[in-house]
Amino acid sequence: MKRILILHTGGTITMQLHDNTIDATDSSQPFNLAFFEEQIPGLQEIARIASETLFLEDSSNMLPSHWANIAGVIDDNYARYDGFVILHGTDTMAYTASALSFCFENLEKPIVLTGSQVPLGNRRTDARRNLINSVELATLNIPEVCICFNDRVYRGNRATKISIGDFDAFSSPNHPVLAEFGLKLSIHTSYRPGSGPFATSARFDPGIRLVKLFPGMEGSWMFPETADACRGVVVEAYGSGNIPYGRQQSIMPALKRYIDSGGVAVITSQALHDEVDLNKYEGGRMALKYGAVSGGDMTTEACVSKLMYLLAHHSDVQSVKERFRMNLAGERST
Ligand code: ASP
Repeated sequence: MKRILILHTGGTITMQLHDNTIDATDSSQPFNLAFFEEQIPGLQEIARIASETLFLEDSSNMLPSHWANIAGVIDDNYARYDGFVILHGTDTMAYTASALSFCFENLEKPIVLTGSQVPLGNRRTDARRNLINSVELATLNIPEVCICFNDRVYRGNRATKISIGDFDAFSSPNHPVLAEFGLKLSIHTSYRPGSGPFATSARFDPGIRLVKLFPGMEGSWMFPETADACRGVVVEAYGSGNIPYGRQQSIMPALKRYIDSGGVAVITSQALHDEVDLNKYEGGRMALKYGAVSGGDMTTEACVSKLMYLLAHHSDVQSVKERFRMNLAGERST
């Protein structure tokens, strides 16, 4: 029987529903095997399960240091288990999944993040299905950091939260789902096999900015004067990566000054589907000429965590930009 480690980090799945509000996790509630046995009978028939509570946070409180904590615990337990399931709040699950995908090199085992829209103890919970599917997935030979939710399996660094009130809370707009649970499990795409020794490096530089453009936005507010204060900015631009360049609206002087001072400016899009093309319109071409980097078809979550990861691992700007353009963990198509 496969050995699976379930790691608790909090989120709705482990919270309590009272009337119409969801309260923070009652820390006296033991999320141990007896609790699982009571809530999800049969879970232990799928695998030999161990569980550990790392912390119990609403995922809106999570920091890059929490990502590093999770990665470290997986690294410590890597040889002892065949797969890992992480119980996590849905709000920032796609950030954590993206971040973890950059931490592990030559991953050979599944790391599955899941949670729920309704707490586990509730009659109408989606937690049971999500957890059973995730444990089953973690027993398979799928060397990916993935999100398993509402019967679908997404590559973690391609997923984004799309719904607050629907059980179908996630989507991966620019990548097909990896697998689907129906009467049986259908596996749709091939996975990314490792090709060397497994290694973990979980350092992140949290000192970046993420800014979403809106008409009338000031360039001086978006970009710091120099890169000393903040080494990277992710810009959610319009459409194919368009940034205002007109005489009254131009963001370009601030962008150029920031890049010239050693900052990394990544351009992604407010549109969920398809790929940024900085060559298509003047606003993208100017940004490219000044040294901005295209986010391609990456999610905003993947852009943010990848930039934090690269800035923590490389001191020179050119290496960060070069690697940002590369496909490191299946997070971008081109
Ligand atoms: N606020 C919760 C969280 O992200 C939402 C959820 O788990 O669905 O922790």
